[in-house]
Amino acid sequence: MVRDVPISKVTGAVVTAWRVVDHVQLLLSIRGQPEEVRLQCKCGRCHWIVREHHGDGAPRLLATCHSCGTRVDFVLEGAPLPKA
Ligand SMILES: [Zn+2]
Repeated sequence: MVRDVPISKVTGAVVTAWRVVDHVQLLLSIRGQPEEVRLQCKCGRCHWIVREHHGDGAPRLLATCHSCGTRVDFVLEGAPLPKA
């Protein structure tokens, strides 16, 4: 069973893998944690709009709460970079 983790507990976390289930729920594999977790917003919802950002510097994972608009972002590690 996947554990719900509030965004306040994962601030600054390094995400090594992620996936979306049921179209909106965001599951994260976080470096140093053995199990996948489900990201929960401070409003209590688990309904995210997710995208990766590959630009200058480290790739990042950006998530916006569909319900209240809260934004979170994580450093992505080990994510495949787009081909140059
Ligand atoms: Zn929210």
